[in-house]
Amino acid sequence: MRRIKIICSIGPKTESEEMIRSMALAGMNIARIKEGDIFKIAVSSACDIQEGEKHTFVDYANLIKKVKKGETILIDDGLIALEVMNVEPYHVTCKVLNKGNLGRRKSVNIPGIRTDLPSITKKDIDDIKLGIENGIDYVAQSFVRKKEDIKQMRDILKSLGSNAMVIAKIEDKDGIDNMDEIIEESDGVMVARGDLGVEIPFEEIPIVQEYMVKKCIELGKPVIIATHLLESMIQNPRPTRAEVTDVANAVFEKADCIMLSGETTKGEYPVECVNTMHKIAKNVQSKLRFDMPSDGIKTKDVKESITFGACINAENLDAKAIIVFSKTGKLLRLVTKKRPNIDIFVFTDSEEVRRKLIIYWSTFPFTVNFNENFEAMANSAINMLKEHKFLVKDDRIVIVSDVNPRKNVDTLEIRTID
Ligand code: PGA
Ligand code: MN
Repeated sequence: MRRIKIICSIGPKTESEEMIRSMALAGMNIARIKEGDIFKIAVSSACDIQEGEKHTFVDYANLIKKVKKGETILIDDGLIALEVMNVEPYHVTCKVLNKGNLGRRKSVNIPGIRTDLPSITKKDIDDIKLGIENGIDYVAQSFVRKKEDIKQMRDILKSLGSNAMVIAKIEDKDGIDNMDEIIEESDGVMVARGDLGVEIPFEEIPIVQEYMVKKCIELGKPVIIATHLLESMIQNPRPTRAEVTDVANAVFEKADCIMLSGETTKGEYPVECVNTMHKIAKNVQSKLRFDMPSDGIKTKDVKESITFGACINAENLDAKAIIVFSKTGKLLRLVTKKRPNIDIFVFTDSEEVRRKLIIYWSTFPFTVNFNENFEAMANSAINMLKEHKFLVKDDRIVIVSDVNPRKNVDTLEIRTID
């Protein structure tokens, strides 16, 4: 199965149930919902704003030259905050960060220092509430600049009764400068190449990407490569050769996820994009190897040790899969972060945990009733995998578990399917 996961942003072209189903069938693993109203600021009647689009005119033609993507525009002394998405010849397209009623003759500011703004706006909180009501598993937090931003988000989620994972989007220089502490604090990270491309010199992006992927793998935090992976497929049914190589590079780096944005929100070929990513990833992953740690395995940690054992045995014995029994996902994280080039089937007893584990590299999560009788539990998991045709007779598998009823017993087993 495919090791790297595919995230699709849902938008006007894909918000129907039918399109979401088509993308899921093509290989989408996670759907991303991006909320937010669009507002346009025009500097001339020559702008191409359509009837019905929310907009205003300002008497300041230089606005077009002064603002760039990602910057904030404040209206009416900061009552309404907008984020610039696109600068066009006669208008600026913005995302509404927090709403308000716009009267006539209000002030417009472009603050040089973004940190003047609350990093989580009222509009964000309303979106998060709506998300929680609809059972979101992850929140991707924009422009995370320091670890306190994550803590603030966690507090908000907690106060709203949600256990959603917090994914830190690294999008600017502050985020990069504080990358280590941010990765440490978050549940996962997104290399937000779209905004990074305007916030830092673009030639630095590949270095930042490589560093972030490595660091996340080391710490067992899922890492998402985002933006422009198949940008030309917004209009074309086939990728450029450079895009093929960019997707392949993410696979070679062993990132957990690759994400589609414009390609699936507004593009003409959303399902083809998923197919394209799937095809490239499947083909390229055959070249991946399980890398033994260069400094050997020195650990006194039992869970580290048995998960290493599982990966090494699976590699040696040409096993078909590693099966993990894990209650919270901790043991699973220890397996997947070692990047064994093999299918990892994880069994947990919580549907909430199962859904979250989809984000991890090569991980295929199931739920099972944990059983006092380990043999019965293992058999029921194996039977489930046989029913789905993931396993057949004579396949060799490696099992690791820390959910055993006997206290302080962790299991590493090698079996052959009968
Ligand atoms: P966005 O984040 O799509 O929410 O802007 C990703 C990026 O900036 O690359
Ligand atoms: Mn962004």
